[in-house]
Amino acid sequence: MRIYDITLTLSDEIPSWPGDPKFFMERFDKIEAGDNTNTTRFEMSAHTGTHVDAPYHFINHGKGVDQLSLKILTGRVYVLHLPEVNVVTAADLEKADIPPRTRRLLIRTRNSEYWAKGVKEFQTDFVGLTADAADYLVKRGVKLIGVDYLSVAPYKQSRPTHEILLRANVIIVEGLNLAEVAQGRYMLYCLPLKLKGADGAPARAILIGV
Ligand SMILES: [Zn+2]
Repeated sequence: MRIYDITLTLSDEIPSWPGDPKFFMERFDKIEAGDNTNTTRFEMSAHTGTHVDAPYHFINHGKGVDQLSLKILTGRVYVLHLPEVNVVTAADLEKADIPPRTRRLLIRTRNSEYWAKGVKEFQTDFVGLTADAADYLVKRGVKLIGVDYLSVAPYKQSRPTHEILLRANVIIVEGLNLAEVAQGRYMLYCLPLKLKGADGAPARAILIGV
C-alpha cells in the first residue's frame, strides 16, 4: 500500500496569500532554557498551505469548516492531470476522461512544479478554474474539488468560482502538492482542523493507491 502525502509542510518558508498574515511558529518553552518541555505556538491564516474552504469563506451565514461532511472529505477520488493549461475551463474538463460518477476530483496542473521546486514566493500566474468550470463540476455532481495552488480560482477572480462551488456545497481543498501523483484513482483522506464556525482550516491530506 503506497501512501502519498499531498500536504504542504508548514514553516516560515510557505508562501502566503498577498495581504494575509504570514505563518509564524515559535517555541515558548525551551528545554535548553531550563523549561520542562519544548512547546510551540503558531499563528496563521486559516488559508495557509494545504487547507479546506468552507461556504462561510464567501457566503455570510454559510456553513463553517467544522460542519463539513467527513463522508465527502474521505473516499474514492480521481486525480486528473492537466499539465498544459494556464486556466482550467469547462471545455478542458469536458474533454478530459473523468470517470463517470466521480464525486471527488483533484486536478494536478503545472502548479505542482512550484512545490516540487520549493518556490517560496507567492505566484500570481497560478492555474485556477474559471466560473464555467465550476458550473460544469456542480452539474456533474462533483462534491469535492482539490487544486494544487492556494486558490481554486485564477488570481484576482476569486469570487465567481468559489461562490458557485460553495453555494452548491462543494468542498474546496487548496494547496495540494500533487507533484508525485500519477493520474488515476485513489482513496483520499483529507481532515481539516475542527475550528468552530471558521471559514476554512488547515488539513492533512493523503492519498492511498487503490
Ligand atoms: Zn482558501
